[in-house]
Amino acid sequence: MITVSDVNKRFGKLEVLKSIHVDFKRGKSYAMIGPNGSGKTTLIKCILGMVLSDTGSITVNGKPIANDWSYRNEIGYMPQIGRYPDQMKIGQIFDMIRDLRQNQGGIDDELIKEFKLDRMADKRMHTLSGGTRQKVSASLAFLFNPKIMILDEPTAGLDPVAVEILKEKIVSGNNKDRTFLITSHIMSDLDELTSNVVYLEEGKILFDDTIDLLKEETGELKLGRAIATIMKRNINDMERV
Ligand code: ADP
Ligand code: MG
Repeated sequence: MITVSDVNKRFGKLEVLKSIHVDFKRGKSYAMIGPNGSGKTTLIKCILGMVLSDTGSITVNGKPIANDWSYRNEIGYMPQIGRYPDQMKIGQIFDMIRDLRQNQGGIDDELIKEFKLDRMADKRMHTLSGGTRQKVSASLAFLFNPKIMILDEPTAGLDPVAVEILKEKIVSGNNKDRTFLITSHIMSDLDELTSNVVYLEEGKILFDDTIDLLKEETGELKLGRAIATIMKRNINDMERV
């Protein structure tokens, strides 16, 4: 569904992505894990066309994304930090996005209702707490029933009830036609929500396979411990060089 080949990206002197090759397949759900600053958000933004890579190519459904924005209609994106016009009301945001987007997949406004955002339609964006903004972002990501869901730290800042609502939505929305790409620092969430893991460190992919294989390779039962094991392995390797 999404193929990234030989993508390099630097910001000034900083090499943020180093020869990234990765395939996100239809029907699978991917956890993208890595320390802060390892390049997760930048890779996501490259896929979305919000950051232009220096080299390489990205295709979505076999078509190169360069110079053709239509693929974005197939992607639901929940940004790590959602930015909205301060003076707009919640209801206006949803109305505006619906007007902008011609939707083919049908509307899915379940999250708007479950987060009770419909009852807060008249609240202005600048008055909202971080968690409520996250709820708006999550609801927008699911709104058009997209085939590709990219969620950048979706549960960060949400209250426990909202976390469970969103996780339930992700699990129930997971099907053979959909691809999920989720970043999070909460390993137990990813363990529940995803089947595959792409592990990034300093802009390089160090592991890209199923969570089951990662657990088997490391002899660990939990994703968090398995990731800790490969992180330690890398530190040891680096010390040896
Ligand atoms: P992650 O999401 O894994 O925490 P990011 O992809 O956000 O990491 O950032 C990777 C590195 O790139 C960080 O060192 C960050 O400061 C840097 N970076 C990200 N965006 C920019 C930008 N627009 N300009 C300069 N540096 C950036
Ligand atoms: Mg990030």
